[in-house]
Order: sequence, then structure tokens, then C-alpha cells
Amino acid sequence: MAGLTRRQFGLFTGASAAALTLPTYLRAQDKPRVVVIGGGAGGATAARYIAKDSDGAINVTLIDDSEMFTTCFFSNLYVGGFRSFESITHSYDTLQSSYGITKVTGRATGVDRAAKTVTMADGSTIPYDRLVVSPGIDLIWDSVEGYSEELSQTAPHAWKAGEQTKILKAGVDAIENGQQILMVAPPNPYRCPPGPYERASMMAHVLKSKGLTDAKIIILDPKPKFSKQGVFQEGWEKHYPGMIEWYGPDVHGGIESIDVKAGTVETGLDTFKGAFMNVIPAQKAGAIASAAGLTNDSGFCPIDPTSMRSTMDEAIFVIGDACIAGDMPKSGFSANSQAKVAAMNVRADLVGSKVFPAKFANTCWSLIDTDDSIKVGAQYAPGDGKIASTQGFISQMNEEDALRKANFEESVGWYAGITADMFG
Ligand SMILES: Cc1cc2nc3c(=O)[nH]c(=O)nc-3n(C[C@H](O)[C@H](O)[C@H](O)COP(=O)(O)OP(=O)(O)OC[C@H]3O[C@@H](n4cnc5c(N)ncnc54)[C@H](O)[C@@H]3O)c2cc1C
Repeated sequence: MAGLTRRQFGLFTGASAAALTLPTYLRAQDKPRVVVIGGGAGGATAARYIAKDSDGAINVTLIDDSEMFTTCFFSNLYVGGFRSFESITHSYDTLQSSYGITKVTGRATGVDRAAKTVTMADGSTIPYDRLVVSPGIDLIWDSVEGYSEELSQTAPHAWKAGEQTKILKAGVDAIENGQQILMVAPPNPYRCPPGPYERASMMAHVLKSKGLTDAKIIILDPKPKFSKQGVFQEGWEKHYPGMIEWYGPDVHGGIESIDVKAGTVETGLDTFKGAFMNVIPAQKAGAIASAAGLTNDSGFCPIDPTSMRSTMDEAIFVIGDACIAGDMPKSGFSANSQAKVAAMNVRADLVGSKVFPAKFANTCWSLIDTDDSIKVGAQYAPGDGKIASTQGFISQMNEEDALRKANFEESVGWYAGITADMFG
């Protein structure tokens, strides 16, 4: 007991003043426990930083429902033929062998916040002193009338990477000249604001590369505008004239329903027909976040912007797409940045390490065509009760080819860097 700081002692006594003996896990191994739910951009980074920077003083368990993780970032480049599926798929082996992290493959179904345990689908429980929740998003299937999880096998969303991404690529690869792909874009807030428009670019790249310039991609958007719109549309005009058509609600009159079998989207003003559909529904925090009582009416999780600590429970941190991150977009870069702030605060709670002021960063690159990449990004800090943007940048129209090529090279370097930062 003499080794515990006053802060740590407070942690363990707070739960039960009557319990005069140490909690079982302390007696057993004398180490505080962190459990991380979700082994993606946020969770893998948090697990790695907590394990690495505490140098074995904290037991870290990482729960993810898959053996391997396929990144959504660069999944559009896989669709476009710029990356292999293997190159965007990563293993958790190094996190286990080099950082001593225990990887549990399975689905977390509940969190008992009073007992501080995570319940798994097989009924087992995993105790924690601090919990990091980074489950990403879930899709709100009925936000698009006529769509369902079952129909996503034919009309993929591919907004979670893996099998869905392969179905999407196969559908795009099967398009013939004169046919149309219909994309239903998601409403705000959703993961990766420029993602649908980079995806349309990559689809057009595939079609153009095969000489199918009479094929089209129609984007039906519930939003009146989208991220990097001017530069995207300039790029589409330059590389894919007449091949990508974007319609906002003032043109289509509102997306009313879809019929996947018939290949149609019914809108307020028209019926659109396509040979293949990519339907990206509205989104909410991954189900475990609401099961744990960490969400508010928005479907996402409020956090303290100085630490990423849940405002609902001080033993829990929520990072990545599941949290309400103020001005930060839902991106892998953001999740990775938030994870480091959470990891620092988790270590401070458990082993008394120093806390520095929170700082965050994000850049989202989007590839329009070979060597033509655009970007948007910003620095962020806590301010006005949220994570607030402090300075930002965005690609401009009419930029030099060399600058766009440099952007692409930068994005390739970023991908290598972030995946090493996540998986070791
Ligand atoms: C097409 C596309 C392109 C993108 N491009 C970029 C880009 O270029 N740059 C960028 O920065 N971001 C990009 N993103 C966004 C990025 O992928 C996400 O913002 C990021 O992955 C969020 O990280 P996360 O940790 O919140 O969630 P994820 O990375 O999705 O990780 C969550 C993990 O938790 C698992 N999980 C969830 N619930 C449970 C549970 N109950 N039990 C066990 N496991 C669970 C999930 O299966 C998943 O493995 C893109 C997204 C898409 C869809």
C-alpha cells in the first residue's frame, strides 16, 4: 500500500469505504487495470501509449471483435486500385508481443459502471480501473427508408472497412459503359466528412482507366454542401468531365426511399436509377457507448475537452468517432490525436504521471486522381467548453500539380506513420 499515491489510494477507497482489504486485482498483481474497447484508430493508439509510457506499470487489455483491423482510411484507394486490401489490413501481434497488451477478440456487450467491469458476449467479465471506449460508429439503418443491414450485402455502405469494402469494389469493377452508380451520401455528423467525395473520385478513376467514360456516378446528398466542395468539383471537371454528378436537396427535393432490388432512389422531385448502389446511412456512436450510458440525445458521447474523460463517468474516457469532439471532424487522425490525450490522463489517474495541456491535430487528405490529392486540416485546443479549432488550412483551387503530388506523398507517409503509431 505504501507505493500508492494519495490519488491512487482515493481511487480504490472511493468504491467502498467498508472494504478494508485491497481489491482482488491489486492483491493478485499490484497493478492498475485499463480496458480499451475498440482496436481501431482511437483504441489501438490509446492501448499502445498507455502500455508504452507506463513501462509495464499498468495492465492493458484491448478488446476488439476482429482478429485483424482493416482501416477505413485508404479504403477508397483500395477501391480505386491504388492500394491492395492486404496493405490496409493490420494485425495486433506487435501490441501483444512488444507492449505486453492483452488482446481479447470478442464483442463487448455491456459495462457495469458500478462494479467497473466490461461484459463480453460469451458472458465473461473483465474488470477495469479506467476504461477507454473507442467503438467507432454504428449505422442507423432506418435513416434511409428501404435500406437494411441485410440489403447492405447488395448495396454496400462500406463505412466500416472489411467485407463491405470488398463488396463495394466488386460492384464498381462490374460497371459497364453507360451504366450509373448511385451513391446516397450521409447527413452530418458522420465519420470522414470528405470520404464520400473521395470515394466518388476513386470510382470514376476505375471507370476512366477502363475507358468507360459514358458511365456515371450520381451522388444524392441530404446536405446542401460538403467538405472541400469547390476543389473536389474542380477536380471532377478536370479529370472526369461529365462522369460525376452531385445533387443537393434543393435539386433532388429530399431523399425519400430506396428500392435496392429495383436499383432506384425516390426523391422529392425525381426517381434515380442505377446499376449499383452505395448507400451510406446516418450514424451514431458504436452500440456499446449507449449500452454503457455514455451517450446523450445526439447519439454520441459528451466528453471533457481537456482530458477526453466522459462527462457521465470519471473512470471512463471516450475517444474517436463515438465522442462529441467539438470542431474536430470524425477521422482516424482525430481519433489518434484524442487517444494520446486520453492515455496521458489515464496514466495520471493511475500512476500519478504528469499531465500537459491537451492539444489536438487533424488533416484529411483526399485523392481525386493519380497524384492529385487535396487536404484540409487544423490544430485544436480546449476552449469554450469544447475542442475548438485554433488555426486551419485547406487546399485551394488552381493549385500547381507539384503541390497536389506532394500532398499525395504526404498522405502516404501519414498512413505509414499512423498505422505504426496504432499497431507498433
Ligand atoms: C471511406 C472512409 C475513408 C476514410 N478516410 C480517412 C482518412 O483518409 N483519414 C482519416 O483520418 N480518417 C479517415 N476515415 C475515418 C476513420 O476511419 C475513422 O474516423 C476512425 O477509424 C475512427 O476511429 P475509432 O477508433 O473511433 O473507430 P474505428 O477505427 O472504427 O475502431 C473501432 C473498433 O471497435 C470495434 N468495436 C466496436 N464496438 C465493439 C464492441 N462492442 N466490442 C468489440 N469491438 C468493438 C470495431 O469493430 C472497430 O474495430 C475514413 C472513413 C471512411 C469510412
